Amino acid sequence: MSEHVECLIIGSGPAGYTAAIYAARADMKPVLYEGLQPGGQLTITTDVENYPGFPDGIMGPEMMDNFKKQASRLGTDIRFGMVTSVEFDRNGGTHKAIVDGTKEILAETVIIATGASAKWLNLPSEQRLNGSGVSACAVCDGFFYRGSDVAIVGGGDTAAEEASYLSKICSKVYMIVRKDHMRASKAMQHRVENTPNIEILWNTETEEVLGEHAVEAVRVVNTQSGEKREIPIKGFFVAIGHKPNTDIFRDYLAMDEQGYLITKPDSTRTDIPGVFVCGDAQDKVYRQAVTAAGTGCMAALDAERYLSAKAVGM
Ligand code: NDP
Repeated sequence: MSEHVECLIIGSGPAGYTAAIYAARADMKPVLYEGLQPGGQLTITTDVENYPGFPDGIMGPEMMDNFKKQASRLGTDIRFGMVTSVEFDRNGGTHKAIVDGTKEILAETVIIATGASAKWLNLPSEQRLNGSGVSACAVCDGFFYRGSDVAIVGGGDTAAEEASYLSKICSKVYMIVRKDHMRASKAMQHRVENTPNIEILWNTETEEVLGEHAVEAVRVVNTQSGEKREIPIKGFFVAIGHKPNTDIFRDYLAMDEQGYLITKPDSTRTDIPGVFVCGDAQDKVYRQAVTAAGTGCMAALDAERYLSAKAVGM
């Protein structure tokens, strides 16, 4: 049996729930599927201090619970489940989504808010201390280590940008780069190289993050000399890239080489009429809760306008 809905929202981070709040208030009776990680990336953060409207900050999981309650109170049908495949109608007819491999949803509009996931080194110590000094977001968590020494892994633009950000609040930043060069843009490389309190450790890999209940140090190895070194730090940041959760859309939607979905200028529209995308699934530059929420609002407004225009045959 298939179910027919006006607006299907895929994903439950700030983008998905904000889209739901706007779509529900526009009488689109949105149905939202939460996905594998209900609440999204903020559910693995501690304090959120940079979301406007919370003068004392708020815990990430509590904030996402509030988003959910607000979307639900306004009439969103929130369901636990994972959209496992889609069949979009390229002509803008009814779109199809399969949930958990079995249930079929037919939707007049689809709002994709599937987010992105940070890549990790996959060291057991990194996983054990995640949230206790290990983080994949310097802008979110760097403030907690102000005045302390920290390390950041990666040699791309994100790592360079975050090292630069951390250097302003921490006493020293060790940048752990696995090759003898960086992938980051020249401008970003010059910036980190010219920052006195950033020390770049070339040809270096992380062996283990050390500490019982919180990060106390990191053990690294120089892959050229084999020399090992333990560096005392309080924060360990991983910035080796993100992976947008967009694999199931590959056959239908335009994406860049990393899988970020491409939208039409100044909108959340994709190449397929009635399919919109918001949040980190389409944003590799800002990646903040507040920017995700902003694009979630845009996606619901775009979907509402699309349905109105369709109803009058425009
Ligand atoms: P990138 O994929 O560009 O860089 C990832 C970095 O992490 C590389 O240096 C890579 O090393 C390293 N890395 C990957 N896996 C490991 C591992 N297991 N151990 C150690 N190091 C590892 O990701 P970014 O997030 O930096 O950037 C993504 C995209 O977003 C890029 O296109 C970037 O230009 C863009 N961006 C733009 C910004 C801006 O314009 N302001 C800001 C931030 C990002 P290696 O080189 O050896 O593979």
